[in-house]
Amino acid sequence: MRILCFWLAGLFMASPVFAQKKGATHAPTHTPSPAASFKQTPVSEADKKWNLYADELIQRYFKANPEAALYAGDHRYDSVLVVPSNENRDAYSQFLQTESGSLDAYDTTGLSTASLMDIAILKNEFNQQIFSLNKLTSWQWNPSEHNPCGAFSEILANRKLPSTAKLRALGIRLRNVPLYFKMAQQSLLNPTSVHTQLAVSQIKNGLIVFESELRDSLLNSKLPAAFKNRALADCQRATQAGREFVENLISRPDIGKTDFRLRPDLYERKFDYAIQTGVTAEEAYKAATARKEELHKKMYELALKILKIEGKSEQAGPKEALPLIQKAIDKISLRHCRADSFQEAIRNQIPKLTAFVRYKNLMYLDPSKPLVVRKEPDYMAGVAGASISAPGPFEKGGNTYYNVGSLAGMGDVEKELYLREYNNYTLQILNIHEAVPGHYTQLVYANKSPSLVKSIFGNGAMIEGWAVYTELMMLENGYGGNSPEMWLAYYKWNLRTACNTILDYSIHNKGMTEEEALDLLRREAFQTETEAKGKWKRATLTSVQLCSYFTGFDAIYKLREELKAKQGAAFNLKAFHERFLSYGSAPVSLIAKDMLLKP
Ligand code: ZN
Ligand code: ZN
Repeated sequence: MRILCFWLAGLFMASPVFAQKKGATHAPTHTPSPAASFKQTPVSEADKKWNLYADELIQRYFKANPEAALYAGDHRYDSVLVVPSNENRDAYSQFLQTESGSLDAYDTTGLSTASLMDIAILKNEFNQQIFSLNKLTSWQWNPSEHNPCGAFSEILANRKLPSTAKLRALGIRLRNVPLYFKMAQQSLLNPTSVHTQLAVSQIKNGLIVFESELRDSLLNSKLPAAFKNRALADCQRATQAGREFVENLISRPDIGKTDFRLRPDLYERKFDYAIQTGVTAEEAYKAATARKEELHKKMYELALKILKIEGKSEQAGPKEALPLIQKAIDKISLRHCRADSFQEAIRNQIPKLTAFVRYKNLMYLDPSKPLVVRKEPDYMAGVAGASISAPGPFEKGGNTYYNVGSLAGMGDVEKELYLREYNNYTLQILNIHEAVPGHYTQLVYANKSPSLVKSIFGNGAMIEGWAVYTELMMLENGYGGNSPEMWLAYYKWNLRTACNTILDYSIHNKGMTEEEALDLLRREAFQTETEAKGKWKRATLTSVQLCSYFTGFDAIYKLREELKAKQGAAFNLKAFHERFLSYGSAPVSLIAKDMLLKP
């Protein structure tokens, strides 16, 4: 299982843990139409040869990085826990350099675009990982990178694996946990205070897998007594080692000696590797700032309509405009569902979105892959308000889940604020983004992509950018009946993506303070105190990732407009969407290059 969208997450989990729980399944209600023409079938000998090479390369990669295999759904190495030692990091770095070198030397004569894209993606991925290990060195200053618990939960929760085989693998995997924590402790040097706090809370919570979840499963298993007893003892050792790690972490004298702000040179490089839409970090920042101003203007005009204010100039300075926009947002936010019907409201909207996409002929939707709406699993509770977890490329039959946060733990005031935030309008935009035709739809296409490389190394800006793009695309096509309320809710939502980029760039490159950040988010992006504080925290724990939403969106939108201008009357929106998605989760810059070259 991989998690896709941390859109609503106040906190970003560095190594997310996953669990599957049984949820209701929607029966497909439509018969499949003939498969769309998006299959890229490799024909040439050169492509066949490349595909073989790529498959073998990925096998080597999984062997060198068993955790990557696990999250891709390849469970052959579940019993292997690689400890974070210098020796292992050096060996892995060597592996990456060797493979990257071989890719440089690979003869690309006669290769199709799809194969050339694979090569570019792999090279970028390996170089990014080399950069991360040797230059970024977050394994040194970010203790939350050293958390062995999540993978245990992931394996344990996998209902597709036979129970005994799974527990046997976990029993062996357990043996390395004490060494893992020991090596993690030795790896750390001058950790930042924010990442230390995160690690402490995540590991404290994560240890429950050894304390009870795995322990209970072992107790109830039919494993041979000797194996079982050893594994039970190892559960205890693992818990103990984790507790000691946390205690040592808290008492380190070097906490806070590294600034959580990335240095600008590191930021630029990380951005180049991760985003890949064809712009620099600074260009993305400038585009986001321009978008913010544009949105403020549009929102002001809508606010006048919604508040029924007449005779006002359509132009106003921020001092006058921003409070008025806030007032209009407050007004439309009062229309919201009840706390006890939140999940149901989401579930009911999915078929409506699907019907709209079909009715407007926006893209082909595969009816054989139902989306399962479920209450968010406990381990996610309080973290993500809504997210999609998807099967990896080797789990094609697996369910895709729409995890919806429960409001049960909230007080009345908190509940009301939450429901106003996810009012009737915003909730629809959320569902477009997460489900149809956003993340979930993109995923179904991506899993059809015959390229294992693209399935495994999905580009975040493409994935998030697509989801953000579909929000605007649906409204442009009349979803929500062009009501000022719907558009205002959308603009607020889109403004959040622009401000995410401004915030992330400013914090890591311009020394933006918490006070300045909160002012941007509260006054200019109309966010609540809670959301703004959560976003500040997330931006201190991560870097670059928050830029992927806006930057991906901006690039996809510009690509569409460029193609429209080029093709004129021949432009077809459905064909554009299907072709764009047919590349799998490839970087937008590579997709754009190909689509513009051969429209
Ligand atoms: Zn998303
Ligand atoms: Zn209310």
